[in-house]
Amino acid sequence: MKPPELLKLFNFARKELIFSGEYQIRDFPELEKIASNKTDKVKVALSFSFENDRTPCLNGVITLGIALSCQRCLEDIILDLIVEFNVGFVKNENQGAGLDSRFELYVTDDEELSTIALISDEVLLAIPMVPLHDFDCATYKDTEQVVEQKKRNPFAILKNIHIADGGEE
Ligand SMILES: [Zn+2]
Repeated sequence: MKPPELLKLFNFARKELIFSGEYQIRDFPELEKIASNKTDKVKVALSFSFENDRTPCLNGVITLGIALSCQRCLEDIILDLIVEFNVGFVKNENQGAGLDSRFELYVTDDEELSTIALISDEVLLAIPMVPLHDFDCATYKDTEQVVEQKKRNPFAILKNIHIADGGEE
């Protein structure tokens, strides 16, 4: 069963529900912004449990290959990721006392969480803030020139056309 849009923490935890589904990277707006392989698959497995008779917990595994642009040469870097997380949803830090240490505490007052937002957050935590090739990629090309092209103002061409028109009057 594919996860619903909203995860009902207590309800799902008490029933120990298990979900699995396949998405595309473009289904996650935060990932779509940074990935160039927007239609590639994201596999998600979620399993809920209720710990210590009071804390809804979630074990999740997200499997994806994401193509990010290297901040040195701007070519793609493909990261093959298996992101596993264990989260205990608590209203405050105290409520987490006694919870098995494998669970990270997620402090929230909400009974429902967006599936897409939760999965996006976990993936974003697993990828580097500044992706770089693990080899010295900059020596293979003229990096400055590539950066310059990316920065070029898209309106510069329009401006030139305008000036040409003015000259004919
Ligand atoms: Zn690079």
